[in-house]
Formats: sequence, C-alpha cells, structure tokens
Amino acid sequence: MRVADLIRRKRDGGELAADEIASLVGAYTRGEVPDYQMSAWLMAVVCRGISRAEIAALTDAMLHSGEVLDLSDLPGRKVDKHSTGGVGDKTSLVIAPIVAAGGLYVPMISGRGLGHTGGTLDKLQSIPGFNVDLSLAEFRRVLGACGCALIGQTAEIAPADKKLYALRDVTGTVESPGLICSSIMSKKLAEGIDGLVLDVKVGSGAFMKTEEEAAHLAELMVETGARMGKRVVALLTDMDQPLGRAVGNSLEVIEACEVLGGRGPADLRELCLELAGWMFELGGKVGSLPEGKELAAGLITSGKAKDKFREIIRLQGGDAGVVDAFERLPRAAHTFEVVSGEDGFVVGIECEQMGLASLALGGGRAKKEDAIDPAVGLTVHKRIGDTVRKGEALCALHYNDAARLADARRLVETAYRVGPEAPAAKPLVRSVIGA
Ligand code: URA
Repeated sequence: MRVADLIRRKRDGGELAADEIASLVGAYTRGEVPDYQMSAWLMAVVCRGISRAEIAALTDAMLHSGEVLDLSDLPGRKVDKHSTGGVGDKTSLVIAPIVAAGGLYVPMISGRGLGHTGGTLDKLQSIPGFNVDLSLAEFRRVLGACGCALIGQTAEIAPADKKLYALRDVTGTVESPGLICSSIMSKKLAEGIDGLVLDVKVGSGAFMKTEEEAAHLAELMVETGARMGKRVVALLTDMDQPLGRAVGNSLEVIEACEVLGGRGPADLRELCLELAGWMFELGGKVGSLPEGKELAAGLITSGKAKDKFREIIRLQGGDAGVVDAFERLPRAAHTFEVVSGEDGFVVGIECEQMGLASLALGGGRAKKEDAIDPAVGLTVHKRIGDTVRKGEALCALHYNDAARLADARRLVETAYRVGPEAPAAKPLVRSVIGA
C-alpha cells in the first residue's frame, strides 16, 4: 500500500476497496502512517465524499482495530446512547445514571470535545479525580458494580477512533456523514450492547445543518446497526440553540446535576426523559416510550438517579461530593455579560458560534496536545422566542484569561439576532428514524 496513492485516489473522487481501507486504518492505528497523511486522506473524504461500501469497510476496520466486548456474563440487557455532537449537550451525564438506576447496563464509550461541540469526557474530567481512562478490567468491574461506566476510546477498545477523533477535531475534518457514522458506530458496536439510541443533532449548532443531512446520517447509522444485528433508533433533535443554559465543562456538570435533582432547564429535562425512555424501551424494561419516560421521571423524583451518579463518580475515582456542592467544581474567576443592543424578541442564535465562543475562552482544543480550561464557558440567559430589552443580558461569559475574552465576546454578540416579532416555536424532537 502506498498511502500517497490512496490519498490521490480519494482526492480525485475515486473509491477505495475494503482491504485498502482496512490496511490504511490498521497502519495509522499502529503509528505507521503519520498524522499529515491521514489528515490529507480525511480532508479528501470530507471534500469528495465516501460511498456506502467504503463507510461499511471503514466502520468494520475501526471496530476491529481493538476488542469487541463480550458482556454476556452480566445478567441483563446493555444499552447506550450517543449524540452526533452539540452545544450544551450534557444529556449523557443525566441519562447514564437514570438508565443504570432503572436496572439496565450502560457501558458508555464517549468522546472529547469535537470541533465546536463539547464532549462527555471533558465534562466528566472537570469533576476532580474522575478517571475516564479505565483499563478494560476496571471498566468491567465498575460496570458490574453499579450498572454503568463512562470511559473514552482506549488502546484496547476502538483505538482507531481514539486517534482519528483527536485528529479530526483539529483538522477541520469532522463534517462528513461517513466519518461521523464510522466514528460513532465503531465505538458503540465495540461495547457489546444490545440496543443503541442515537441523538442526531440538526441545526446551526450541529454538524448536520439541515434535516435532510441529519436524516441521511441517521439512516447510515441505523443501517450499520441493523447490519450488526443491533436495535438502533435515531432521534433528530433541535440544535438551533444550545441545549439548556450551560455551555462549558464544569458548568454543564452543574446543570446535569440540577436535572438529576428534579430541577434544571425544561428542554434539557425533556430531551433526557425522551432518550432515557427510548433506552428503557430498547432494553425491554418497558413496553412503550411513554412508560419509559415515566420510569425515567420516577427515578429522578425518587433520588435514585442522583444516587447512581454519585456512585459512578465514586467508583471512577472522582469527588462524588460535587453533585451536592457545586463549589467543589472548577469555577472561572471572571464573568462578562453580553447585552442586547435593542428591544424585541430573540429570533435566532447562530449556535455554532456559541460553541466556538466557549472554545475561544479555553474550553476546547486548537491543537491535539492543548490542555483545556474546565471552568470556562457560557450561561445562556436568553433563548429563542424570549423577549429582551435594550441593555438586558443575553449571555454571560465565564473566563479566566482576559486575553481570550474579545474573540468570545464578538462571537456571542454576533450570534444573537433580535427582531420585532416572536418566531414560531420548533419541536425539540423533529423525527424518529428506525423505531
Ligand atoms: N461523535 C463521535 O463519536 N464521532 C463523531 O465523528 C461525531 C460525534
């Protein structure tokens, strides 16, 4: 295999055979292909596209780059949920404990921040001591003990995605349905699960900006799951504005704990109940989605879901006290309020810019080796449809480094659109594919 030839073929719109893709992925995972060649190939895929056969080959190669877990020794169904990436999307932190408290196993392999979107691993790591790098043996032990474990891709499970994901984050090569499908499905299929709920984001803050693009991605993933004999359902959900009010790692942990405590923003709670309800349905705990949502809501009300979150944090080495004492989480030293220049209604929010603003404050990476600041981010005061008066705060920026403020401020100021009339409300869940 000459990697330069594979890059040129993709650049010119050609197709690669399954064995060529397997060789490329294998060699990259072993460190035999450098990042610059892999980045060039990924960019060619983003620009020229990738066929269904190539997506299947890529997913298989990434899945078999590591172990495929066999969790049949654990007595019960295993289910998971994954999002295609959003701004303020902290649903995994709420759903994983709810579903584990409801008696299903949740072996969750998550990702870090990707492009302008946040990542579950970065959020969890804002909890002092929380270890997302468990060995396979530790992962099994935590999962067996409390019904849930949350880790990243490792050298043992989905190692190809571990490397490709970090590379795509900083090379502008996220926005390809084929690359997203293979990234998500390779790590989810490695988990040894029975059922998977996919939250496919659509809108200005998603990688897929239109419903057509999002539906195409959802179909690719549902089809991949079916090929592997898994029950997969995909929900197309709104990402035209941040989910909830918090954007940024420790801020999002706080908001997730609020929802687990029966409070928190209505949209976030609604989506968590919907996704958890589907997980209960796929896992055979209930016979219908409404029953699943009711079960999830009951586990919040009884406090069992919050207890489960404490247990997960403790078993993964973290400070479980953060769930009740938010001051134990990292906090930014300064706050700046972006205010409205006029009276009216918020008619739109350029949601990708909100994610980029959080990144600009230090909440994400510009290069692979960058450290992130867990404390920084945004508090969204005004959402689409809200009335606003001139001089009233739209959004707070939480920052530590004053040199980073100007860019973030400009992004947020230009993200908001205020107009004279309230816009029509859009549903949070647009459609369901694969039910
Ligand atoms: N989530 C993933 O795991 N991979 C992607 O490519 C996008 C979202």
